[in-house]
Amino acid sequence: MAEHNAVDKKIENFDVMLSAEEIEGRVRTMAESISNDYRDKRPLMIGVLKGAVIFLSDLIRCLTIPVEIDFIAVSSYGNSTATSGVVRILKDLEQSIEGKDVLIVEDIVDTGLTLNYLVENLGSRQPKSLKVVTLLDKPDRRKVSFEPDYCGFIIPDRFVVGYGLDYGEDYRQLSDLRVINE
Ligand code: 5GP
Repeated sequence: MAEHNAVDKKIENFDVMLSAEEIEGRVRTMAESISNDYRDKRPLMIGVLKGAVIFLSDLIRCLTIPVEIDFIAVSSYGNSTATSGVVRILKDLEQSIEGKDVLIVEDIVDTGLTLNYLVENLGSRQPKSLKVVTLLDKPDRRKVSFEPDYCGFIIPDRFVVGYGLDYGEDYRQLSDLRVINE
């Protein structure tokens, strides 16, 4: 109980970077663009676990086109290999993506290594098309050049939590996006 209160107090001290209303509005406009670009299609939206779960679930409910969903979980091997962009697939897709219009849905692009790897890996599975949707982008931190096709917000180089993003598995359930104060 005491521990729970301590965490609650900390949350109040985190500055809000994006309110739930700001996120909701932007997700709606992103969904409009995607619905328009993929009209008459039935794209496969691939959520990158776990951070993109909230974004994916809100995004697909604003779409006006039919979609399929699947999930992939990845993890980088750690610091020594992070710079080389080696990423490990912890949970792969349940289906073949050959001939499909695929949209990778990610929470945030930081160094770009994860998405760079995923685009290369999924791209080799012969999808009809492959694009990337991210809620957040921190371009200041790039180690490899990477440009998402759809981006919700460009944010400064701060560590953020909430709306699916965690710090040691905490704070994913916050409906706004907050900055962890160092
Ligand atoms: P990248 O390969 O682009 O460096 O890493 C992307 C991943 O790093 C994201 O999917 C996310 O898990 C993590 N990440 C990067 N920046 C942040 C941040 O500000 N907050 C949180 N919670 N995770 C982040």
